[in-house]
Amino acid sequence: MIAKRETEKCIYMDHAATTEMLPQVVHAMEPYLMGEFGNASTSYDMGKKSRTAVEHARKIIADILEARPEEIYFTSGGSESDNWAIKNAAGANKHRGRHIITSAIEHHAVLRSCEYLEGLDYAVTYLDVDDCGIVDMNRLRESIRDDTVLITVMTGNNEIGTLEPVGRIGALARERGIVFHTDAVQAVGQIPMSVSRLPVDLLSASAHKFHGPKGVGFLYVRRDLELPSFIHGGSQERGRRAGTENVAGIVGMAEALKIAASEMSVVRPRLIGLRNYFAERVLHEIEGARLNGHPVKRLPGNLNFSFAGVDATSLLVLLEEQGICASAGSACSTGEVRISHVISAIRVPDAYAAGSVRFTMGRDTTRFMVDAVIIALKQSVAALRGA
Ligand SMILES: *Cc1c(COP(=O)(O)O)cnc(C)c1O
Repeated sequence: MIAKRETEKCIYMDHAATTEMLPQVVHAMEPYLMGEFGNASTSYDMGKKSRTAVEHARKIIADILEARPEEIYFTSGGSESDNWAIKNAAGANKHRGRHIITSAIEHHAVLRSCEYLEGLDYAVTYLDVDDCGIVDMNRLRESIRDDTVLITVMTGNNEIGTLEPVGRIGALARERGIVFHTDAVQAVGQIPMSVSRLPVDLLSASAHKFHGPKGVGFLYVRRDLELPSFIHGGSQERGRRAGTENVAGIVGMAEALKIAASEMSVVRPRLIGLRNYFAERVLHEIEGARLNGHPVKRLPGNLNFSFAGVDATSLLVLLEEQGICASAGSACSTGEVRISHVISAIRVPDAYAAGSVRFTMGRDTTRFMVDAVIIALKQSVAALRGA
């Protein structure tokens, strides 16, 4: 087994960007990286072992989500799942209409897919959110048209952590006969997710956000939903997603989700406690600090703060010098000095908008780490304000 490196490079506060694979995950994958390398589509014994491993993984994931195994399709990650769900649910229903509803704060994998469809003469409504980042159900209801064929709203926001009312959105979509997709990449493995209780037709997830490997994810597709293939080729994934299966990745993803699900009743309340403690101290001890997103309807490990008059990029540099890894908004926009679409959408006041920093905690985050981050944060904010 690969030994975990003991030298911790930083206090890792960026679990929304990616997470470290657990030793058990690496261990579960190892046989399929070397040795059991058979193609899952071949008939001899070595291939059958890969097939068995893939189907076992599918069963584990389906059981956790309370789905049927045949409703789980393996993909290369969250971005592919989002692209597939949105582009092809829209395509399959174009005879019924070409209107899509989404929110203004979606991940770029969703927003850019919708923009792509606009180029193909679809109309897209980008729903405003309130100051906490929550989609307004009345606005959603009003924006439904006779030609609306798809609603896509994320479960938990990757920047500000806000949890959307996906249960109510899904119920409304179902009532109106509209396909409902949710990007649950930040939610799966963090909060309980069940497609038997949530009225959702399509749900995206990604392994590297829950301590699994990068480059693998899945799309839940409700039984009987029409969703044409996105990747054409061989007949893998029941002809709906061609390409030789990423056996090791799929096995690692299932192991990671199994661990996350089994630990959730302990990890989730612990992270919520740490999150509330962290927020309370920052808001009390640092002047001109603001918590972005909803105070409680948010992902367990997510905090997003703004500090008046402080530039996030400079703050991140100072934090990194003190061994702390955090992010300004989404990882995808680092390097670009612009205010993220999410921070703009929740109308963060100008004095605060440029100083938005995200801290996302995970299963290994301790109170000791949080205390160290708060000390560094206080010093860094004071230094940048020239105190
Ligand atoms: C990370 C993320 C994605 C993209 O997933 P990848 O597996 O990295 O492609 C999509 N949506 C959300 C909300 C994410 O956080």
